[in-house]
Amino acid sequence: MLSVNLGPIHGAIAFGMAILSVTSLAQCDGWQQHVDYSMDIELDVRTHRYTGSAQLTYTNNSPDTLKELFFHLYPNAFRPGSEMDVRSRTIEDPDSRIGDRIADLEPHQMGELIVKDMAQQGKEVPLEHMGTVLKVTLPRAILPNRSTTLAYSFVGQVPVQIRRSGRNNSEGIAYTMTQWYPKLAEYDERGWHAYPYVAREFHGVWGDLDVRITMDSAYTIASTGTLMDPHRIGHGYPLGRKRFERPAGDKLTWHFQAKNVHDFAWAADKEYVHSVRELEGGTELHFFHRPDPEIAEVWNELPGYMEKAMAYMNEHFGAYPWPRYSFVQGGDGGMEYPMLTMITGKRRLGSLVGVSVHEFVHSWFHGMMASNEGRYPWMDEGFTEYASKEVMAHLFPRSESSHLNAYSGYYALVESGKHEAPVIHADHFETNFAYGVTAYNFGELLLHQMGAVIGEKNLRSGFLRYYDACRFKHPDPVDMERVFEATSGLELDWYFDEWVNTTRTLDIGIQQVLEVDGELHITLERIGGMVMPVDLVLVGTDDGQQHFHVPLSLALGSKTPGTEEYPFAILPAWQWTDPTYTFVVPGTLKDLREVVLDPLRRTADVDRSNDRVSVPSGMGGLIRP
Ligand SMILES: [Zn+2]
Repeated sequence: MLSVNLGPIHGAIAFGMAILSVTSLAQCDGWQQHVDYSMDIELDVRTHRYTGSAQLTYTNNSPDTLKELFFHLYPNAFRPGSEMDVRSRTIEDPDSRIGDRIADLEPHQMGELIVKDMAQQGKEVPLEHMGTVLKVTLPRAILPNRSTTLAYSFVGQVPVQIRRSGRNNSEGIAYTMTQWYPKLAEYDERGWHAYPYVAREFHGVWGDLDVRITMDSAYTIASTGTLMDPHRIGHGYPLGRKRFERPAGDKLTWHFQAKNVHDFAWAADKEYVHSVRELEGGTELHFFHRPDPEIAEVWNELPGYMEKAMAYMNEHFGAYPWPRYSFVQGGDGGMEYPMLTMITGKRRLGSLVGVSVHEFVHSWFHGMMASNEGRYPWMDEGFTEYASKEVMAHLFPRSESSHLNAYSGYYALVESGKHEAPVIHADHFETNFAYGVTAYNFGELLLHQMGAVIGEKNLRSGFLRYYDACRFKHPDPVDMERVFEATSGLELDWYFDEWVNTTRTLDIGIQQVLEVDGELHITLERIGGMVMPVDLVLVGTDDGQQHFHVPLSLALGSKTPGTEEYPFAILPAWQWTDPTYTFVVPGTLKDLREVVLDPLRRTADVDRSNDRVSVPSGMGGLIRP
């Protein structure tokens, strides 16, 4: 064994215990708006136009009197000259799925959504259409803690499929109906969030939807919510794996109800094969895909994997709260909606399982947490990436960490010079590249890296606490910080402040290793602007390992032994003001093989070259990397 013992350690007294004791918390205790919709829709499959008549009840739980409301009218993005069209053509690195395709749309190919008329308790409501946003001026303001009811009608046209929604997608699915209805914007302590749509993120108000969809009876509909009368539809159980032969031309009305959702999506195709897997506890997984023999085999294997994914998520991230979830062939890749995903289906097994896991895991971070995706896309996509990598590692065990590519994506962004602060609104990143890496890779590494700060076991229990405290409450970064502070007993302001609001980078290196009178004096230096606690390991010539943790003074404490899967000793805290940090442990260079910072690769240190020093045999005195 390397001759290093765990104490006494020179210098200040090591933090041995978490010093914060939090009894009551302000996490996720804000007010929430609420909206219930009842909609009757009829879709004409010859013209691809639809009409709707609707009634909504909006409850203002805010302390503010609301004189106007805003709705999203997403389909209007699919028109030449729209903000989405211009943004897609002028951004430095266009999304090839969109490019200039919107600019070339003919009138019969465009999207459209217009609210024809609206009444508030019998009084006509003035409407102002502003592209993808509708402004509604209320004849009667809604006082705090009061509700109002609006009755309205709308007409729409389903665009040819450009991005996410539309008709006739690349795999031939007739209708992918996402972001298709006038959708009330969310209002919170920062006011309205009615962002003009440029093909990025969504945000919505929780509530219940009761939706009746009438269309040609030859189509099978997959939808958010629960089908209320499956037997009348010919949609009875057990379905097995079959298509429903219904005469074309006749109209059929499908009735769905969804509770506690912030969006409602559906898809329709004449060819859908529909199957159901009922899980222990009664939750149903539904699968809809085309009867293509090429994909039948992998779709047949999907339910088994998704059953395991559900069990894993329920155990580690909190119980799935809705009665069903549908995997639907549609859209243009994979996209999450409450209780449903649209995924392209012509994939090999690994890809089909991978996209299905990712979209399904969104049920937690998009469906249940629903942080404002516009302002904090990384709280949805990034956390979904984190959890889905954990699920994939459970389904397909591998030896290496499943989170390494989050770090490589982040490093590539930093090196590119396109790095922007994650706090920037999703719509306003200057490149798709920076947005994508920030939303997905950064969010994933922010969570994974927090394991190094608070301990892996605290990270895991924090997820369940986050679920308990914040589901259905639109948590923001401060809510999340408070949850993990409560879980770990550590102060985490610095972690969220610096990583979310700045582009500072982390680079901590080993400056020198010195032997003095039978003791090792090890000096670390902070080169980058970011502060972090440090994990390090001393490896002896006999392969013995001693793990140490250097707390950061700003955390006002340290993760404690027992919060990691391995034993470690706690060193005195590194004052955040100090550019270097020296600690002393008993030991000799003769017995030391190497010193390694962050041995588990859980920090986004941008220069790994100074994170490891090896001691050449027979070396004495001073070692520098
Ligand atoms: Zn996603």
